[in-house]
Amino acid sequence: MSNNINRRDLFKFTSGAAVGLALAGARVNSGWAAEPDERPTGPISLSGNENSYGPSPAAREAINEAQGKANRYGYAQQLEFVKKIAEKEGVTPEHIVLGSGSSEVLCATGLAYCRNGSDTVAADLGFGLVPGYTSAVGGDINWVPLDDEMRHDLNAMDQRITQGTGIVYICNPNNPTGTLVGSAELRDFCASVSRRVVVLVDEAYLEYSDDFNGLTMLDMVKQGHNVVVTRTFSKIHGLAGLRMGYAIARPDIAERIARYKMCKFQGPLGVAAAAASLEDTEFQDFCRARVKEGRELVHELCNTLGIAYTQAEGNFAFIDPKMTNQAFQQRMRSHGLRAARPFPPKPDWARVTIGTTEEMQVFAEALPKILSA
Ligand code: PLP
Repeated sequence: MSNNINRRDLFKFTSGAAVGLALAGARVNSGWAAEPDERPTGPISLSGNENSYGPSPAAREAINEAQGKANRYGYAQQLEFVKKIAEKEGVTPEHIVLGSGSSEVLCATGLAYCRNGSDTVAADLGFGLVPGYTSAVGGDINWVPLDDEMRHDLNAMDQRITQGTGIVYICNPNNPTGTLVGSAELRDFCASVSRRVVVLVDEAYLEYSDDFNGLTMLDMVKQGHNVVVTRTFSKIHGLAGLRMGYAIARPDIAERIARYKMCKFQGPLGVAAAAASLEDTEFQDFCRARVKEGRELVHELCNTLGIAYTQAEGNFAFIDPKMTNQAFQQRMRSHGLRAARPFPPKPDWARVTIGTTEEMQVFAEALPKILSA
């Protein structure tokens, strides 16, 4: 099956009934005229939280058009792109820091606020990039266990802040558990905690949520709080390989973060693709809907098979297959599926990235066999 989709193919999908059909073992058509020999072949990656549908048709066209500009730094295009992001977010260009993926702006924020040994308050279990980086530049990490539902425990995190804290890192939805903290709760936390330290809110997966506008902490930035929000083009936009992301923060904070970036320019291909992708809201809607179906499929399977899972949002599920991660990986591989690495302190829970509808059908057929093998 080809990933070189065009717009006509993309929107020729059937929606809704995917969960029931897959559970019943029937074929599911996600938009392709799927014939039996069009099933995915080779290892299907359900491990990297990438977008199996992306890049969008508009981004592909933009990449083709921009390829002749790869000899240039493309500074002017980058400035235009920053203006475009600012307009979309309803802030000024001075609020935006572009990065090589959101990784760069997350790390630059860590460097800006923790390089002098200030510590980071972070959830355990959570996305390890920021704590890993701030500890590499000399800060301690105050790990705070998740609550019983594997969500950030904001009260406990608040209590772990000390005079020596530089950053509180919140990943919403959290990776790898997929859990969200509610918007009112997080808003109160940001308003109060950001009087003492920077609250870094990583929204890499928030665009998969139906309530993006209600859940984003962007309004806290707009109100002038000490809050940094990061976004990426690697997830719903399907551009992980082009390394594009950005931070949104009060201009004085943005300026401080920008000073610690390693790369001052993003490449013209990435800028062109991301700019086109921003406008391709049909593609984003398509991915959000397909991913939601895929997540629900996994959760329904877990219900049927009697295994635990978290209330995950984002393009992945977090499930307890009741075996070691090594055994799960091996059994997944024998069905042509690649699973994610262990995530201590829950090393035997498995993070399953939501792939295309066809890929998820392969998973749906394999999971009962994997569990009973
Ligand atoms: N934040 C979270 C929660 C992630 O899971 C990832 C990557 O998987 C990133 C940030 C970094 O992504 P990127 O650098 O591709 O924007």
